[in-house]
Amino acid sequence: MPKCSLCLKAQADKRNSHIIPKFMGERLFEAKPRSTQGIQIDITGKQRKIQSIPKEDFIFCSNCEKRFARIEHYFSLKLKSVHNYTNEKDNFKLHSDGSNSILECFKISQNALKLFNYSMVWRASISNHFLFEKYKLPKTYEEKLREFLNTNLFISHSNLLSNLDEIGDDTGLYSYFFKCKVRNEFSRGYFSTYQIGENAFGLFLVDLIVYTYTDKQSIPSEFKIISDIQDKNAIIVMYSVENWKKLNKESIANFNDIIVNKSIQK
Ligand SMILES: [Zn+2]
Repeated sequence: MPKCSLCLKAQADKRNSHIIPKFMGERLFEAKPRSTQGIQIDITGKQRKIQSIPKEDFIFCSNCEKRFARIEHYFSLKLKSVHNYTNEKDNFKLHSDGSNSILECFKISQNALKLFNYSMVWRASISNHFLFEKYKLPKTYEEKLREFLNTNLFISHSNLLSNLDEIGDDTGLYSYFFKCKVRNEFSRGYFSTYQIGENAFGLFLVDLIVYTYTDKQSIPSEFKIISDIQDKNAIIVMYSVENWKKLNKESIANFNDIIVNKSIQK
């Protein structure tokens, strides 16, 4: 049995490891009245029905799997709050500039968001699953991310929290988190992952998009406003429904393999 890809020590004994947390894909499989299937479309246009987002065997040990589960659980609760931001006015501030806005999250630290982002970016990059084959960071970044995650992920909730303020980042990466302002069937995007430019990588995760850059010069100018904000609070870019749809549509031209909800109108 191979060694765990995160700690490099224990045996990778865990089956069914998620590369992207299960809750991130839930909206692919919801349909009224019953939720059952998504549709996977490959590069040739061939479609097949699937019931959950991809899993992989024997890449992590049970311990490290629990470490991922801890940050995922923590962040899934934070995300619920983010989706509900209009009702939690004390916890968020919406900075607006026309059709798109920036959501400042008073109760979510930038480091927590970073840890969550990186946990997905790294797993997608090291995954052997074909859905992630176009999402491969250079090996030097993979190793920096592994060290970052191995240092800052904990099984215990209290250890995770007390370490958040201590996190230092020498990965050399720039990672941004986007979502649509609303969350309904019109905002449901696609599930796909690929390299969008020489130094740019995109995780399209239905309700969220994570853009990661290996080079500061490659960050599009419209993101500069975020990269200039040096805040301890998490920052999320909020797109209007119209722009969100446009972003997903433009990107679909580059998709090799995507998963869509079966009700999707193309
Ligand atoms: Zn391990």
